[in-house]
Amino acid sequence: MASALGLPGTPMSFPEDSDRTALRALQTERLRSLVGDVLGGNAFWRDRLSGAGFVDLAALSDRLEDLEVLAELPICSKEDLVNDQDAAPPYGSNLSEPLSAYTRLHQTSGTTGRPLRWLDTPSAWLNLLEAWAQIYRIAGVIPSDRFAFPFSFGPFIGFWAAFEGAAAAGHLCLPGGGMSSAARLQLIEDNQATVVCCTPTYALRLAEVAAVEGVDLVAGSVRMLIVAGEPGGSVPGIRDAIASAWGARVIDHWGMTELGPLAVECDTAPGGMHVLETECIAEVVDSERLTPVVAGEQGELLITTLRRSGSPVLRYRTGDLVEVDPEPCGCGRALLRLRGGILGRSDDMITVRGNNVFPSSIEAVIRGVEGVAEFRVLLGSEGPLDRLRVEIEPVAGMAGDLLSDTVAAAIRATFNFGADVEAVAAETLPRFELKGRRFVRD
Ligand SMILES: [Zn+2]
Repeated sequence: MASALGLPGTPMSFPEDSDRTALRALQTERLRSLVGDVLGGNAFWRDRLSGAGFVDLAALSDRLEDLEVLAELPICSKEDLVNDQDAAPPYGSNLSEPLSAYTRLHQTSGTTGRPLRWLDTPSAWLNLLEAWAQIYRIAGVIPSDRFAFPFSFGPFIGFWAAFEGAAAAGHLCLPGGGMSSAARLQLIEDNQATVVCCTPTYALRLAEVAAVEGVDLVAGSVRMLIVAGEPGGSVPGIRDAIASAWGARVIDHWGMTELGPLAVECDTAPGGMHVLETECIAEVVDSERLTPVVAGEQGELLITTLRRSGSPVLRYRTGDLVEVDPEPCGCGRALLRLRGGILGRSDDMITVRGNNVFPSSIEAVIRGVEGVAEFRVLLGSEGPLDRLRVEIEPVAGMAGDLLSDTVAAAIRATFNFGADVEAVAAETLPRFELKGRRFVRD
């Protein structure tokens, strides 16, 4: 186990450094084993695949020697999983083992519907920790790095797995549950943490509290923030705001409760993420027609997990829109690279005067204006908007009227539509520890 996690100084080659032929061979072997050896004991997948005409899973496993055959299998949506859990509460039927074999429960945040419960077996959990070890290596984490995890340890999977993955890889790990933001900053400073894992939203919140508390983050010990949980970790305006407030490198990361940690920015090429193709097979499809897009075009990411064997998913709709970078990455890795990271979600596009924009693009423009402590966009009821309504909270000492005019001008210059921007008093807008909810409907 120690060598599989790549402990510091271990002389070995890492799976994420394989060439495409070797990656493809590994994916084929893992998918065939999942389909041939595991899914027969999993009622959800057995029923689903037989309903699509794949009754003989051993025969299907043989056919998957050609990975193109994967595209013949049915696509799975979050709704399918939620409906399954409703029909067989509380965990549904996507279980490859008897219930007694599972030791971990997590659930989705519920920002897009009812939370989905997700169980893991010990062996699937170890695979997740190995995925984290890959993520840390690709991100450029070094053996002496110390990790701070400034968040509450609820049923959100990302931080549990990131914490245990970092500890298993030999790093000192600081838990920040049940603490105020000021106490977390103190924890970071007292223990000279060098890497912080949190959402982009909370990285900015900590910087705001640091300014109030007189903590100089730029002169502090943190050299890297690994951010996840929201599109935006690859959006220049948001990255730059975090990087300059902390004087540190921002590394974007992507994962989902039902999939695990599956993508990360490498230390060589900012503004994109490599997919951990040792752990999954990624497809990019048109979100309406569900057919493959031309390489390099924008589409929705579909994921097949290869080593989450206790509760696997095949061809799962993530709702996240991506573009595959056709150019080889400067880091030399053959892993697929998503240009610009997660570009947005297929279900959160906003239409203003006929322009389709992602909330993350609007956030990037607002964050690009110096002096905005927090903001909120009021979307009204469903449907297209004539103008964008924005509330902004200026940092201390900043004139609200001037800042409102600057934000409105930046929005017009970028998107070519108008915005009504109103300044509100300090500390009146909500703050967030996990995902920000700044785009609200009445
Ligand atoms: Zn790279």
